[in-house]
Amino acid sequence: MKPIVLDGKFLAADTETNLIDRVQNLQNNGINPCLATILVGNDPASGTYVKMKQNTCKRLGIKSLAVELPSNTSTEQLIIKISELNADESVHGILLQHPVPEQIDERQCFNHIDVAKDVDGVTTLGFGNMTMGVDAYGSCTPQGIMRILEHYNIELSGLNAVIIGRSPILGKPMSMMLLNKNATVTICHSRTKDLSAIVKNADLVVAAVGIPKFIKTSWLKNGVILIDAGYHPKENCGDADLLDIEKVAYAYTPVPGGVGPMTINTLMLQTIVAAEKNCNV
Ligand code: NAP
Repeated sequence: MKPIVLDGKFLAADTETNLIDRVQNLQNNGINPCLATILVGNDPASGTYVKMKQNTCKRLGIKSLAVELPSNTSTEQLIIKISELNADESVHGILLQHPVPEQIDERQCFNHIDVAKDVDGVTTLGFGNMTMGVDAYGSCTPQGIMRILEHYNIELSGLNAVIIGRSPILGKPMSMMLLNKNATVTICHSRTKDLSAIVKNADLVVAAVGIPKFIKTSWLKNGVILIDAGYHPKENCGDADLLDIEKVAYAYTPVPGGVGPMTINTLMLQTIVAAEKNCNV
């Protein structure tokens, strides 16, 4: 049987009509949903990601407020800017583009974002709330993955889920989201021993390693659900080698067109939700 292609590109496009309606409803009620994007320095990849987010805002009718700071910005200067945006009632969501230049304490800056405006799901408080099942904005990439799994009716309870990667924005929140859905979760990282044997036992694999084609199809068990969160534009591939994936998987995310589009879509959705909370619509 052919595997299910978990088509994030289709799903993201399909939800846009609903998002546009919700933006219009907010505007009819006098609220102009607004996402502030903060870009520090001139890393070309970060610049491209911010541009993509701003373009999607424009398409949906969400206002985007672009804040660009020089690469020699200090932690203190960035915190002042974040505090200004926290206090600005016309701003509903704040995105601080990761990574920031190395002299900046990124965690401290993330944690200064008001949790009510943390639509990118990066604060420690938001992570804690999400983990404890308290209402919170999820980190956008893992939250987007959960939305894909839900859309395709993938039952997670009891699944043996293996997450490869433990970053604060991806592997860690992904693990907690799957745990909250009653999967049995194993988190792997660069010190994990015998990774391929652990992966072989997995019903669901999330590849979040940052290395092109790192996870091999031969490591996967028959009937696996493979979620590839990676994207490497130069190689046009993800973190898993999808060669022969159709022979092994029950379901998989293609690269490109799987996880990536749902990340930005989730950022937009959470910005709209933050604006709706201001408006009681
Ligand atoms: P990251 O911060 O670099 O984290 C990579 C993780 O992989 C770390 O936990 C690291 O372990 C682990 N790792 C590295 N080498 C390993 C190895 N040989 N064996 C097992 N684990 C290993 O990356 P990230 O930000 O989480 O991103 C991961 C991937 O997702 C990247 O491909 C990135 O492009 C992609 N991504 C996509 C989106 C999207 O919108 N689609 C958004 C964010 C990220 P240690 O903790 O031990 O170092």
